[in-house]
Amino acid sequence: MPLLSIQDLHLEISRPGSHVSVLHGVNLHVDAGEIVGLVGETGSGKTLTAMSILNLLPSGARFTAGVIHFDGVDICRADAEQIHQLRGRAIGAIFQQPRAALNPTRPVVDQVADRYADLLGLGRRAALDAAFEQLRQVGIPDPRVRGKQYPHQLSGGMCQRVMVAMAIAAGPRLLLADEPTTGLDVTLQDQILRLITNLSQAAGMAVLLITHDLAVVAQTCQRVAVMYAGEVVESGPTDEILSRPKHPYTVGLIEAVAGLEAGRRPEAIPGVVPRFRQPPHFCPFVDRCPRAFDRCRVERPQLRALNGQEVACHLYAETTTGEAR
Ligand code: SF4
Repeated sequence: MPLLSIQDLHLEISRPGSHVSVLHGVNLHVDAGEIVGLVGETGSGKTLTAMSILNLLPSGARFTAGVIHFDGVDICRADAEQIHQLRGRAIGAIFQQPRAALNPTRPVVDQVADRYADLLGLGRRAALDAAFEQLRQVGIPDPRVRGKQYPHQLSGGMCQRVMVAMAIAAGPRLLLADEPTTGLDVTLQDQILRLITNLSQAAGMAVLLITHDLAVVAQTCQRVAVMYAGEVVESGPTDEILSRPKHPYTVGLIEAVAGLEAGRRPEAIPGVVPRFRQPPHFCPFVDRCPRAFDRCRVERPQLRALNGQEVACHLYAETTTGEAR
């Protein structure tokens, strides 16, 4: 059994005058101790998938089908106490813009100590000692001094380390990391990714790393799932997906990065990610796909296992060898 298993997850958001199906059949799993990348353009549903795992939905949102199993609990149907036990304890989370997530009026060590007090019930002195030690473990230099500083006195990379310290205070089995290196320079980005990788290996902690950056995936993740317009369209081992992508959307994402690395202008995939009022009955990528054919407009492809990967594309509907039609 995977640690996290999402099966056919549907989520819709209703607001006065609008009604949108934002996730329509997400399938994803994360095994204990592994790092899985979740990639896709803005609007593909990556962050909503992460928020669903925390059962932290925006107003007007509701699950309409599917399950999220985490360690034996169905998160979609869990009661308030079960969710309380999961959030921050079994599942930690870090997000982009760490400085904005920290309280600007309190020293960072106090904010980390609050986690130990709230989640593990430690007294103030023990919580502070644990917080200083955690700041040391996440690479804050001279933590007894830097820990007493306020967020605005620390760099963006240091603030993200503080967020990591808070997220792992209770020893979670899964860390959700949503664009954790956005806004950091390349050196700091590399340091944060190495920190997450080291913590995962040392503690056997699984990580779902949400990013739009394939270079981050290549550097960090054992497996990758590619999201498009509210569903996973391809997944598999990172090496396989990056060297032999099957879905035309994944091919487009990789070609855009390859062009950039070759010094050419990045060629973004023409068009934008569509939004749907209802789950589409056709391929959601059809209007942007250079390989679309008649079937793509009348039938939605299902995610299908193929040589250790999974792909949702009619090009591979009849093959067992992994070759496109
Ligand atoms: Fe393109 Fe058709 Fe495959 Fe969709 S199903 S990605 S439109 S070839």
